Amino acid sequence: MKPKYSLVIPVYNEENTLPELYRRISELMERLDDQAELILVNDGSKDRSLELLRDLHERDPRVCYLSLARNFGHQIAVTAGLNYVRGEVIVILDADLQDPPELIPDMVEKWRQGYHVVYAKRTQRQKESWFKRFTAYIFYRLLKQLADVDIPTDTGDFCLMDRQVVDVLNSMPERDRYIRGMRSWIGFQQTAVYFQRHPRFAGEVKYTFSKSLSLAINGLVSFSKVPLRISTYVGLLAAVAAIFMGLLVIYWRIFVPQSPLTGFTIILVAIFFLGAVQLVSIGILGEYIGRIYEEVKGRPLYTLSEVGGFHNVASRK
Ligand code: UDP
Ligand code: MG
Repeated sequence: MKPKYSLVIPVYNEENTLPELYRRISELMERLDDQAELILVNDGSKDRSLELLRDLHERDPRVCYLSLARNFGHQIAVTAGLNYVRGEVIVILDADLQDPPELIPDMVEKWRQGYHVVYAKRTQRQKESWFKRFTAYIFYRLLKQLADVDIPTDTGDFCLMDRQVVDVLNSMPERDRYIRGMRSWIGFQQTAVYFQRHPRFAGEVKYTFSKSLSLAINGLVSFSKVPLRISTYVGLLAAVAAIFMGLLVIYWRIFVPQSPLTGFTIILVAIFFLGAVQLVSIGILGEYIGRIYEEVKGRPLYTLSEVGGFHNVASRK
């Protein structure tokens, strides 16, 4: 029978958390009003995680698993899981129980009210280093300022999505995936539920600093054109400075004969001016590269939430 709920969990070296994760998730699945499936995606773990997944699958037919041939990273692991979900309501959560499964019934309640995406927003992070909290704080706010779509602050990938949204997500071919951004980009009715982020249940953080940084850069670059425009902005600033200095030099030459002007002033103006020309040119290239980038991302032009009155709509898909 087709399950109504699909839970997707990426697993990377989580042998210590898996038994407890399974216990809590199966408790939750009992509480849900309909059939649920649990999709565990092994992201090239080097410990016994895969064996545990096989084991769980054998013991409980609701558990399915995928195993990636190497470590492709969290976002790709989640993407793989989403490609295989069969349910109508899809929930993504972490394996380390930092995303409490007990929140899922509340999310389902919001879904019933008609929301297509219910994302979990952290109100507090416990026992994470001040460095992680600080960088996360700054990053989410920067992203909100710079991104073209409204990406809510302090939300991770923990969310519930309707089948319609997941279908769109699965149809987006971009390779650098920043799921929480793509989820916002898609649109539909979105809302938040709030929770406190507890410390990881067991094991170590799998997101090293470099993995977090590359995810952050990915988010900025995939959802904002501002980085491409930096050189245009700096160039324009340099041009204004050059023009101002040039005018000043001319003024001094004509009206202030005793001013201590030497040859290097005009050289400085020339350097600024040329620098400006170069920066603006790079910026123009950037604009075109930005267009090319938009094209190769291959995102759909729009997402439809409803259609009325087209009888052959199925054949248009
Ligand atoms: N994870 C993964 N591949 C990776 C790194 C992490 O599948 O290369 C999974 C990990 O097993 C966990 C989730 O992604 O389920 C979040 O990782 P973690 O808890 O280490 O990061 P946090 O976001 O809590 O800092
Ligand atoms: Mg974690």
